[in-house]
Amino acid sequence: MLSCREATELMSQEQDRPLTLRERVGLRLHVLICAACTNYRQQMSVLRAACRRFGSGGTP
Ligand SMILES: [Zn+2]
Repeated sequence: MLSCREATELMSQEQDRPLTLRERVGLRLHVLICAACTNYRQQMSVLRAACRRFGSGGTP
């Protein structure tokens, strides 16, 4: 089982490269049982959506 540290590390690596099947499964299992990492992941996806909008749209 991953530690929280490993899980958050995988979440940030996920932005840069595709995770292996093993990594994805480990991460998914960890997130299922860990509320802290569930929150972290949610915040990250909000941030990522904000970044994407910022990056692609620019100023109106
Ligand atoms: Zn965790």
